[in-house]
Amino acid sequence: MAKGTQTVVELRRLRRATLEEIAALNEQLQAEIEPASAPDDDSVDVAADIYERGKTLSLIQSLEDKLHNIEHAIAVASKGTYGICENCGSPIPSERLEIVPETTLCVNCANKLEQGIRRRRIQMADEESLEEEHSIDDEYEAEEEEEFEEESDDEL
Ligand SMILES: [Zn+2]
Repeated sequence: MAKGTQTVVELRRLRRATLEEIAALNEQLQAEIEPASAPDDDSVDVAADIYERGKTLSLIQSLEDKLHNIEHAIAVASKGTYGICENCGSPIPSERLEIVPETTLCVNCANKLEQGIRRRRIQMADEESLEEEHSIDDEYEAEEEEEFEEESDDEL
């Protein structure tokens, strides 16, 4: 039982740290909103501010998801079933618990769940990821050309 108590203490510590992180990001978000609402901002600055805010918001969102998982893990730990996969009942390896202490799923079940979520998100993210891939390709091609020129210099 001492081990279970220790786990709850550690999870509570993690919960507090996550809450502090969320609070700090919310403050940052508040500070970002104020200059953007000034009427004389040009549109480029506003767009950049909106982009930054979007990043902060998604960071907060993921921390809130994590917080939800931590709280769930605390409930599981107080029942004494921490470290056992909630989906299939297999023991979760301690190495995994060290990396993701808030997890209540083994790696197989977590992957299955993650894939299900990703499939639903793919449709939405499609356009954005295509744009990213395109700009990476352009950079790569430019690098290749440079290398080729250097090689022909050596031969001469
Ligand atoms: Zn499992």
